[in-house]
Amino acid sequence: MLGLVKYARGVGQVGIREVEKPLIAAPDQVLIKLKACGVCATDLHVLHDTFRYWPPVVLGHEFSGEVVETGGEVEDFRPGDRVVAEPKTIVCGKCEVCKQGKTNLCVHRRAPGWGVNGGMTDYIAVPERLLHRIPEGVPYDIAALCEPLAIAVHEIDERCGVDCADVVLVNGAGPIGILAAYVAKSSGASRVYLTGRSKSEPIRFKAALALGADGVINVEREDPVARVLELTGGRGADLVVEASGAPAGIRRLAEMTRIGGRITCIGLCPSDEAAISWNTAMYKQLDIHFNFSSSYTSWGKALRLMASSRYDLANAISHRETIADWERVFRDIEEERAVKAMFIPADEMPGMGRG
Ligand SMILES: [Zn+2]
Ligand SMILES: [Zn+2]
Repeated sequence: MLGLVKYARGVGQVGIREVEKPLIAAPDQVLIKLKACGVCATDLHVLHDTFRYWPPVVLGHEFSGEVVETGGEVEDFRPGDRVVAEPKTIVCGKCEVCKQGKTNLCVHRRAPGWGVNGGMTDYIAVPERLLHRIPEGVPYDIAALCEPLAIAVHEIDERCGVDCADVVLVNGAGPIGILAAYVAKSSGASRVYLTGRSKSEPIRFKAALALGADGVINVEREDPVARVLELTGGRGADLVVEASGAPAGIRRLAEMTRIGGRITCIGLCPSDEAAISWNTAMYKQLDIHFNFSSSYTSWGKALRLMASSRYDLANAISHRETIADWERVFRDIEEERAVKAMFIPADEMPGMGRG
């Protein structure tokens, strides 16, 4: 079978390669026929050599598919089941955070797409413990949004919480920012605003507005602090979600937050340091959360949200392509001509079960 592979160390070193179809290598594994795999910023980081990886490795950790074979010890899944899988293929199981169930934080974690072979191909074998069933009626391409959506659920619902009628400001118009706006609105926010740049306007702002955002702020055209204060009667947002990873945006987060408000962060920065208005945050007694990856419980919530939401997550998918077009798709993402791009295996392209 063909896969999109990071085949060697260094910048670039990605291409379509023949890869061996995986076998069930342990009795707790299932073999999945892949149906869709989203492109994540992590895949771009692996391409550009700015995230860790073990080559040769098939890219992609945001996949959905159908179980086609099960190992001898698999009890809860059988061929025909529609599934998604958490990106925690290898964790140590022995460290303090693993024992607390927070395997997303295990320093030994290796996930598909960089630590082990991923989903930008036709088949993958994964341990049963990582699987979640896709609710009936949710198509495979939407289900493949589960991983980034679970990150937004973990960050917003589980880690900091939305209080009834909160005004939420999402800083950053990438896929995580847009899904964060969707989760905030679904969690009871009265109004949700999202910032972005001129580049974000045609595609990303449109998607955010279709998924629950009440308004957008172009930081290249207006002062986002003044605009947020204007929109909140001078009060500031109850909750500010940092999803940009842009130092210039991070610097002003505290000014956009109300006295006694909260900031929750998920965007990784290009360097390890970013400035915030320290004394402003102190005088306002802000609560600031940091978040990384997703929890087991956030996956169940993300899947139930997909099945029940009044907003159509199809608005978050801008591309459905085969891996043959990977270079154009990656370029579209980097130039913000995309929200979430999905790779669909060539033999799954027609139909997709969307009716
Ligand atoms: Zn991802
Ligand atoms: Zn561990």
